[in-house]
Amino acid sequence: MYAGEIASLDGHVDDGGIVDVRSLRGQWLGRGFINRKSTLTVRLLTTRPEDIGREFFQKRLAEAIAYRKRIVNGTSAYRVVYGEGDQLPGLIVDRYGDIAVLQTLALGMDIRKHILVDLINELVHPSAVYERNDPGVRRLEGLASQTGWLSGEAPTEIEVQEGRASFLTDIARGQKTGFFLDQRENRLAIGRLVKEADVFDAFCYTGGFAVHAALGGAKHVTAVDISEEAINLATGNAQRNGVADRCTFMVANAFDELRRQVSTGTRYDVVILDPPAFAKTKDSLPRAVAGYKEINLRALKLLRPGGILVSCSCSYHMQEALLIEVVASAASDTHRTVRLMERRGQAQDHPIHPAMPETRYLTCLIAQVA
Ligand code: SAH
Repeated sequence: MYAGEIASLDGHVDDGGIVDVRSLRGQWLGRGFINRKSTLTVRLLTTRPEDIGREFFQKRLAEAIAYRKRIVNGTSAYRVVYGEGDQLPGLIVDRYGDIAVLQTLALGMDIRKHILVDLINELVHPSAVYERNDPGVRRLEGLASQTGWLSGEAPTEIEVQEGRASFLTDIARGQKTGFFLDQRENRLAIGRLVKEADVFDAFCYTGGFAVHAALGGAKHVTAVDISEEAINLATGNAQRNGVADRCTFMVANAFDELRRQVSTGTRYDVVILDPPAFAKTKDSLPRAVAGYKEINLRALKLLRPGGILVSCSCSYHMQEALLIEVVASAASDTHRTVRLMERRGQAQDHPIHPAMPETRYLTCLIAQVA
């Protein structure tokens, strides 16, 4: 509940404590954490009159784990708790093999970190729990950046399995909690579409799409990322999977590289665009749209007739409908015909709360280009 939605605050509860929420007419609506410092002033935890203590978190965590048992298979890296999607606002728990990685992004969760770690140990049985509390959003809650082991200790470079691919991930230094778990199902889907294809992956990070493409039978995969560290891991990941001879990784700015390859006449059968969130806020959307347009336009120019464009946005503000508009407009500018084969989103271990559109932040369009 945003500050602007709250008419009055009655009583005395410290920030991070539990408050009841009532409608203007006095009807009891639910219970949640309060943080007056945050514009997200109350994070609703329940709409039932239950106690918010250890037992409450135990039940919610057990439900989150039971759901993953049902939907996750063939991978050792997945999201165990996805904040509001698991009715645990501000809490992220990811699993990398034996290791659990925790983020507490709301004050109410942060001050209960030790109960949460206890419960994770009890229910998930990891060999160690790492805290990756360095996302910028913590500042909005008045929380400092903090990382390190909360329980046990282990190397922070962890090998994980995803379908037939294995990846070395770094939970301490990698982006997010080390790996883009939200793209897992999309990486597996692309792996099935690339037989004999020449593939270009423009924002490859540690080689997620690239390695799956090579394992899926791509003739060759060219992949770039602006981060040298990511490219080093990607190169290692290609070797780890025995596909290094069919992969070329380079440190480059994707915008420049796309332009350069268009001008040198390089052509591909599949181009993958998975850029960082260009639109972090609503205000930055117009500039972001221009960025998405530019890369999609150049990707279309690189594609042979019949080729496949994989175009992603991981920004809630750049929603599916808008990304489709961008692709359509890029197609029109390049005089190409595009048809959508699939409109995909984030993996099922990132479930969407229907009343909270922000929980659906990832779009992945797969389109064929004539
Ligand atoms: N598809 C990847 C995740 C990509 S995340 C996976 O499945 O794992 C986006 C990546 O874009 C990051 O690795 C970031 O380093 C990179 N990046 C950001 N700006 C870039 C630019 N201008 N050119 C190339 N890469 C860029």
